[in-house]
Amino acid sequence: MNHTIMNKIQLVFATNNLNKLKEVKDLLPDFIELKSLSDINCFVEIPETATTLEENAILKANFVTQQFQMNCFADDTGLEVESLNGAPGVYSARYAGEEANPFNNIEKLLFNLKDKSNRKAQFRTVIALNLSGKQYLFEGVCKGKIIEEERGNEGFGYDPIFIPDGYSKTFAEMNLEEKGKISHRGKAIQQLVQFLNSL
Ligand code: IMP
Repeated sequence: MNHTIMNKIQLVFATNNLNKLKEVKDLLPDFIELKSLSDINCFVEIPETATTLEENAILKANFVTQQFQMNCFADDTGLEVESLNGAPGVYSARYAGEEANPFNNIEKLLFNLKDKSNRKAQFRTVIALNLSGKQYLFEGVCKGKIIEEERGNEGFGYDPIFIPDGYSKTFAEMNLEEKGKISHRGKAIQQLVQFLNSL
């Protein structure tokens, strides 16, 4: 497709997380006009009621496409711990309960791993894209392990207890750029960007 003579494509990222928006905006090709949920006056809490990351990402992207008749992509991420059969997975944000904060979630995870020698884990991000009536899925995985105590002050969520394979620092000891290059979300976004660039 020749984008020099093509109009811009408006594409909603179903998030109000400014960090995520910024991360993506800088990477997208010029013909994509990125919109946040607030840009399109969507202020409702989009339900994330599914039991897999894939279904949740699809749920969010479909909500926007159906309600606003717009192209949209949405992401969902979970931490999957091998010896806990993939938990907390899709429930990562509320592992220790609906009102839980990252500290409670980390505390619960470390408690559940107390007697486990296998501490392998991976972050997985799924992106669902609705574009011109078609749906596409992208995935990014970052493998690593869960350590026994928190280390570092950067990042968010489970970052202080996760060390990616091949590194000795936790995600919370890396800056945003360093983490972005190897992270699950970074990889999923790269897949999305590659696809959009190939249009
Ligand atoms: P979300 O789908 O990006 O909102 O992520 C769901 C939950 O997974 C978050 O609330 C965090 O607990 C966890 N999570 C997602 N991405 C990361 C990350 O990069 N580092 C640490 N925790 C994360």
